[in-house]
Amino acid sequence: MKIERFPGGGLVLTTADFFINWARESSLWPLTFGLACCAIEMMAAYASRFDFERFGVMPRPSPRQADVMLIAGTVVKKMAEPIVTIYRQMPEPKFVISMGSCANCGGPYYDSYSVVKGVDKIIPVDIYIPGCPPRPETLQFAVIKLKEKMDSLKPTRLAMASPVQEKGTRSW
Ligand code: SF4
Repeated sequence: MKIERFPGGGLVLTTADFFINWARESSLWPLTFGLACCAIEMMAAYASRFDFERFGVMPRPSPRQADVMLIAGTVVKKMAEPIVTIYRQMPEPKFVISMGSCANCGGPYYDSYSVVKGVDKIIPVDIYIPGCPPRPETLQFAVIKLKEKMDSLKPTRLAMASPVQEKGTRSW
């Protein structure tokens, strides 16, 4: 972005990509998907002490208006199908943050018959947050990293959804 100053005013020059990315990053609306204890830390991030809304991050209960899915907790196989269905209902471009060891790889339940060994087995993940559980500040740092990743998007040159995005899932 370039700012040209002249007497009595100024002129801002930018690109459509920069402007769209800036607007999108400044109002990330996550679809919250609290599945286990990590969800308590996610909720704490929205509470007054951490105040996630300072980042423009406001939780949404509907996939139709959300652009980030926060998977916080243990993904059991029974929940895999609803997660994929809801992920497909989100508009493009959409992003996924996997919060905590359980969502990343099964965590303490990695050898359980009922737990998916990482949510990336069923939907594409953009940011992984390690920890059991990660603290709210870690979730906020993950959103900052996601914003950096979004900076590289070229919205004006976005093709249709990739085959993986179109499929909305990976086999597990
Ligand atoms: S990573 Fe730890 S804190 Fe998070 S859901 Fe799993 S067991 Fe609970």
